[in-house]
Amino acid sequence: MRAMLLTRAGAPLEAVDMAMPQPGRGELLLRVRACAVCRTDLHIVDGELPGLRPPRIPGHEIVCEAVAAGPGVEMPKAARLGVPWLGWTCGECEHCRAGRENLCDSARFTGWQVDGGFAEYVVANHRYCLPIPDCFSDAEAAPLLCAGLIGYRALAATGVAGRLGLFGFGAAAHIVTQLARHEGREVHAFVRPGDRAAASFARGLGCVWAGPSDQPGPVPLDAAILFAPVGALVPTALASVRKGGRVVCAGIHMSDIPAFPYALLWGERSLCSVANLTRRDGQEFMALAGRVPLRTSVEVLPLESANEALARLRGGAVQGALVLVP
Ligand SMILES: [Zn+2]
Ligand SMILES: [Zn+2]
Repeated sequence: MRAMLLTRAGAPLEAVDMAMPQPGRGELLLRVRACAVCRTDLHIVDGELPGLRPPRIPGHEIVCEAVAAGPGVEMPKAARLGVPWLGWTCGECEHCRAGRENLCDSARFTGWQVDGGFAEYVVANHRYCLPIPDCFSDAEAAPLLCAGLIGYRALAATGVAGRLGLFGFGAAAHIVTQLARHEGREVHAFVRPGDRAAASFARGLGCVWAGPSDQPGPVPLDAAILFAPVGALVPTALASVRKGGRVVCAGIHMSDIPAFPYALLWGERSLCSVANLTRRDGQEFMALAGRVPLRTSVEVLPLESANEALARLRGGAVQGALVLVP
């Protein structure tokens, strides 16, 4: 099969022809129909996440169809399945037993510890595959599987905050804005200074205000979510929320957070992160995505353009999500 392979951190992905993966016990062999490109793929390719053991096929927002089942699994009836970031959990550690498998000590993540979807085929444990609502095309559904899911978990972490700020307006923010609007929340978008296209994209999705992240917004916020991997935005976001407000960091990696005066945290403001997803998040969010219904903005590229897609994501020149199709 064709695949875009990471042979060592920091190097471009290589277009290779490799043997088809074989499904083991509990696994499905799936034909990839579309795979979105996430900022986490960029962190993996750049070697910013520990424990990467190349060679590895990145990609963890995979829309696919089952073509074979390994021992102990029946062929699924659903025409399409989604393979998300959470690829396997132990079920036994304290986090798994407490219903927080997103924090599992031995979790395996798609495209990081196991091969992902920048390929024609992928193998995945059937218990972690998610349903894909019929109303989405393959490419439209792909960004729901991480950008959407992490956004959903981050939004939940803001509680009932009615006035929400989003720092970094990429794939996740464009989905969260729609979810928040659906729930009747007011959304403010803080974009990269000078990125007028992102600001107008945000306003087009229903944000009441969109402006540069280096300037204060028009009103104090109840909560803010940081999607941009920029630690310097943490004190900025804390300064943007009112007393009792919460700042949620949604990325897996961020540059160092600079020192800031305690006064920014004082007043019962809180700062937290969200990590990964649980299968329950996945089931709930995919059902909700079809019900709202969310509309994802996607640009489709051939699988072999994976390096170009990563470069564009790095440069920030993307509205919505980039999706690779084999
Ligand atoms: Zn566990
Ligand atoms: Zn992701």
